[in-house]
Amino acid sequence: MEAPRSAFVTKRPSIRILACVKCGVKITVENIGRISDVDGLTVNGAHCKPCAREVVQELKEGRFYENYRGKVIYCKDDKFFPEWFCLFYFRTVEHCRAFIDAKLKELEGLQETLEYWEEKK
Ligand SMILES: [Zn+2]
Repeated sequence: MEAPRSAFVTKRPSIRILACVKCGVKITVENIGRISDVDGLTVNGAHCKPCAREVVQELKEGRFYENYRGKVIYCKDDKFFPEWFCLFYFRTVEHCRAFIDAKLKELEGLQETLEYWEEKK
C-alpha cells in the first residue's frame, strides 16, 4: 500500500527565501519593510526596509493633494484623507478641510485650557 501523498513532504524539498521585489535582496526578519498606504491597506509584495521607505515616499508624493494649514491632505480614488494611514476619508476636499479646522480648533481649546490652569497655579 502506498503512503498518502502530502503537499508538505517531498523527496527534494525546495525552500524558497523571499526576496525584495524591487532590489532582489533576501528578506529577513531584521530587514523586512512594511508598507501602508494612506488608507492603511498594505501594498503587495515583499520589500526590504530601504525599498519600503522609497515606496512609501513615492506613494505619498503620488497621493499628495494639498497642504492645508500645515496638514497634508492626501487623495486616493477621489477619497480625501486628513492624514497618512487614516481609516476614514471624506468624499469632498471641503469636508476634509472642515475636519482639519475642527481638529485645530480643538487643539486651540486645549491650549487655552492649559494656559488657564497655568495662570491659576
Ligand atoms: Zn529592496
